[in-house]
Amino acid sequence: MHSMSIQENRTVMGSKINMVKSPLLAFTESPAVEIVNTNGTSSAVLVCDHASNRVPAQLGTLGIDSFQLMGHIGWDPGAANVARSLSVYLDAPLVLSGYSRLVIDCNRPLYSEDSIAEQSASVQVPGNCGLLPIEKELRVDALFQPYHQAISQLLDSRINQSSMLLSIHSFTPVLNGQHRPWHIGVSSGHDRGLADLMIRTLSHNGRFNIGDNEPYQIDDNIDYTIPFHGEGRGLPCVMFEIRQDEISSEASASEWALRLAEAYQLIENEALNSFA
Ligand SMILES: [Zn+2]
Repeated sequence: MHSMSIQENRTVMGSKINMVKSPLLAFTESPAVEIVNTNGTSSAVLVCDHASNRVPAQLGTLGIDSFQLMGHIGWDPGAANVARSLSVYLDAPLVLSGYSRLVIDCNRPLYSEDSIAEQSASVQVPGNCGLLPIEKELRVDALFQPYHQAISQLLDSRINQSSMLLSIHSFTPVLNGQHRPWHIGVSSGHDRGLADLMIRTLSHNGRFNIGDNEPYQIDDNIDYTIPFHGEGRGLPCVMFEIRQDEISSEASASEWALRLAEAYQLIENEALNSFA
């Protein structure tokens, strides 16, 4: 939607649309996407959909308490730290989303009700309720598309390299009163190949409770990044979900990154020979 149309809509729609400004992000705000180590030599390409709990200034706090934005409904605490360390350990490129999943969830299909969630884990999000189509479009254009274009361009650029897509998430230790016992979940969708190798290797020392598609599996109707960029391109792919109390400090996040890096390096050739 061009700015001319936005102006026209503002005029037509009256006071409600006065909340809508274009562009969504001011020049002084952080970019929608951050790319780290673009030319990394690893076969691993890292993505972090829920890296940030930032909200564009013009959206305030989406009408919720700012401490709720700090919690798991706003982002995946610790995931970006794991992803950044893993990028260093593997010399892998990493793409991170720059804004909160509550503004628009970069790992949800745009048709999903949870793309711009009106409620998350029993918390109403007033700033997401009753949005006009143009308000949703502004978020898609400013945040969702740049993030996914960056991943697409990165994968396109690796014409002389094999790529395996690794997505880094974290999950809350307790959800709806249920304690979740897994230290890490290894999630797969249609293709279990890379996930199976990682589960086998991470299980090896017996210290960790490894969730096999727990607490989440990859679902075409829920997830977007792995189905679109990984399975869509026929790339080996896997999603890691690390329990947030395991990665609550930079040091512990780095420890998990090292574990993942070592496991990946142990199975990398087998995976490349079998699947890539
Ligand atoms: Zn996540």
